[in-house]
Amino acid sequence: MKAPFVDIHTHNPSRSSHISVVSAFLGDDVADAEGPFSVGVHPWHSDTPIAELERRFAPYLDRAVAIGEVGLDRAISIPIEQQAALLAAQLDIAQKHQLPVVVHCVRAYSDLLPIIKRYKEVAYILHGFYANPKQLADLLPYRTYFSMGIRELQRPNGTAIVRSIPAHRLFLETDDGPASIAEVYDAAAKAIGTDITKLRELLYRSYTNLFK
Ligand SMILES: [Zn+2]
Repeated sequence: MKAPFVDIHTHNPSRSSHISVVSAFLGDDVADAEGPFSVGVHPWHSDTPIAELERRFAPYLDRAVAIGEVGLDRAISIPIEQQAALLAAQLDIAQKHQLPVVVHCVRAYSDLLPIIKRYKEVAYILHGFYANPKQLADLLPYRTYFSMGIRELQRPNGTAIVRSIPAHRLFLETDDGPASIAEVYDAAAKAIGTDITKLRELLYRSYTNLFK
């Protein structure tokens, strides 16, 4: 039997045979969620009061497989210090409950790195990953995974980036885009120069290792 596709980050709950980690926002109703989901406060909502986070996360934590998406975004007007404080508060929760985090990082890798160093035990899935070789090299010493979607794969350096990510640290995603996860695997397999069956096995193994 073929290994299932793993969609590590999506906003489209689907009832397929794929493994899809659906991204829920804190406050969303997840009562009907059938598959795995992550829960978090996006940096776009950094005005969320930190003092209430523990209490608000509690109802999700027996079922959530990850915290996220959380992160830092230099393309928005919310001060980066405020975003970093919210991120750190959620990393406290991830660390305490031993959950990986799904990270949204836009033009903020240099801000993210010191935070990752502070929370070394946490596993990070950097979603929508698109960065230069130095940024990747800086992140590799930590428990980091790198997820790309069709958008990143099709950008000018997409092929070079997906090839430079160590095979066991790679994930793929549909995020909020229209491409199916099968199309993303197809694009990634072509860029890497491998076949889809091997890629399915590889990413499924990474998934089961990380989400035990
Ligand atoms: Zn997303």
